[in-house]
Amino acid sequence: MSSRLVLLGSKGGPAIRPGGPWPTSSLLEIGGRRIVIDCGLGVTRGLTSADVPLKALDLIVITHLHSDHVLELGPLIHTAWTAGLAAPVRVFGPVGTRAYWHGFLQAMAFDIDIRIVDEGRPDLRALVEVIEYSEGKIFSENGLTLSALRVDHPPVTDCFALRFDHAEGSVVFSSDTAYFPPLADFARGADILVHEAMLAEGVDRLVARTGNGARLKEHLLASHTFAEQAAAVAMVAGVGRLVLHHLIPADDPEITENQWIAAARKNWAGALTIAADGLVVKLTDDSSD
Ligand SMILES: [Zn+2]
Ligand SMILES: [Zn+2]
Repeated sequence: MSSRLVLLGSKGGPAIRPGGPWPTSSLLEIGGRRIVIDCGLGVTRGLTSADVPLKALDLIVITHLHSDHVLELGPLIHTAWTAGLAAPVRVFGPVGTRAYWHGFLQAMAFDIDIRIVDEGRPDLRALVEVIEYSEGKIFSENGLTLSALRVDHPPVTDCFALRFDHAEGSVVFSSDTAYFPPLADFARGADILVHEAMLAEGVDRLVARTGNGARLKEHLLASHTFAEQAAAVAMVAGVGRLVLHHLIPADDPEITENQWIAAARKNWAGALTIAADGLVVKLTDDSSD
């Protein structure tokens, strides 16, 4: 298995629209591991479209408990279980992830119990280990290290950027955050920085067509990062590639990829990718685009 990053769902926010992209989830294949980062709606479909057998699920990491990052965590694991999952899955998430998982198990108790008896499946409850993490190094195994940095995403306080380091490459996910300069230190020298991004002109259009416009704009400006600012973090960090992800807005037909590129280019001259659902990014490549 060669290492790769797949952007399974690329939009910021939980709402979906006909023909539009899906909320946030990513797949990182590195060091022979398959790691799912965030489980927004559509993660299961995204994984199968990326040719990942669900029963091979191994590690899942949730950056924070906003629904566009966690809504499909339970359904993903449950579906993997019905697809033959037999080895334990570990889920790393912030405080509250365990309560989410127990709530999901409770909601699905009828189905889970009946399948154990009727189909002879292993007990799903025993197959999943939830580990609640905080800032710092959270995992180190077979040459793969995972560390977390608390970022600035009010009103959510337990929201973490993630850094994966392995001999095959290093990848940093900003998670959701307002412009947060300390991320540059955290991402220093990484091969890829996957950073959330909003586009100023798109936000104005988004706010104009939404009922509670002023309130929404206030939230977006306090809690998220403009593409130019994400580019500034990438520049200071000296990463190999910047990937703009969790796009806001993601489904405005008037907003083109070129506008995203132009915004990022104000502060970033290096390799650049604008996320789209299902897009594959190699961990290290020399192609210049
Ligand atoms: Zn989000
Ligand atoms: Zn969020």
